[in-house]
Amino acid sequence: MNFNSHSDMVVAIAVALVNVLTPGERRGRPYQVPEGEQRREAVAEAVRARREVTDEEAAELAGYAPDLRVVFEAVAAGDLDHAAGTLNRLLVDTRARPHLSHHDGEPWHVHFHGTDGTFGGDYAASCATGLAIVLGSELHDRLGVCTADRCDRVYVDVSRNGTRRFCSTACQNRVKTAAFRART
Ligand SMILES: [Zn+2]
Repeated sequence: MNFNSHSDMVVAIAVALVNVLTPGERRGRPYQVPEGEQRREAVAEAVRARREVTDEEAAELAGYAPDLRVVFEAVAAGDLDHAAGTLNRLLVDTRARPHLSHHDGEPWHVHFHGTDGTFGGDYAASCATGLAIVLGSELHDRLGVCTADRCDRVYVDVSRNGTRRFCSTACQNRVKTAAFRART
């Protein structure tokens, strides 16, 4: 799957932000959103920032993460109307809009946010647009929530045949091991 390299990248960032910034369960254990420096570092890694992220910026993205999670949950539940409605609201709230940019020696490329926004708002706008491109395509069912026991981390399925069901190989292996134990 490859929509184009920029939208693939922002969808991957949306997955990383939801998984870092929403509480729940991860690979069989309760998951709490980190605080302070740990949250700043986790957000910087999730968005692949080239500089440090401030508390305010991490907090702003933490504010958007639950809505981004709703999109994955709604698609996984087959409720595309809810996913689309949530994304349309996010696109307005984050003031998402296409904008051609030309920086750091790169060729002209489309950014999904304006030029006068905040760090957190701009990333949220990009994530919402990337997810909207997926949802509006024939590959809309590629957004998912891990189906392993005691895990609710999200993923985007970029496999050729679209058969991914888990957030990670760790969860895939947990399920395989449990199935093996149940048989023996
Ligand atoms: Zn999982």
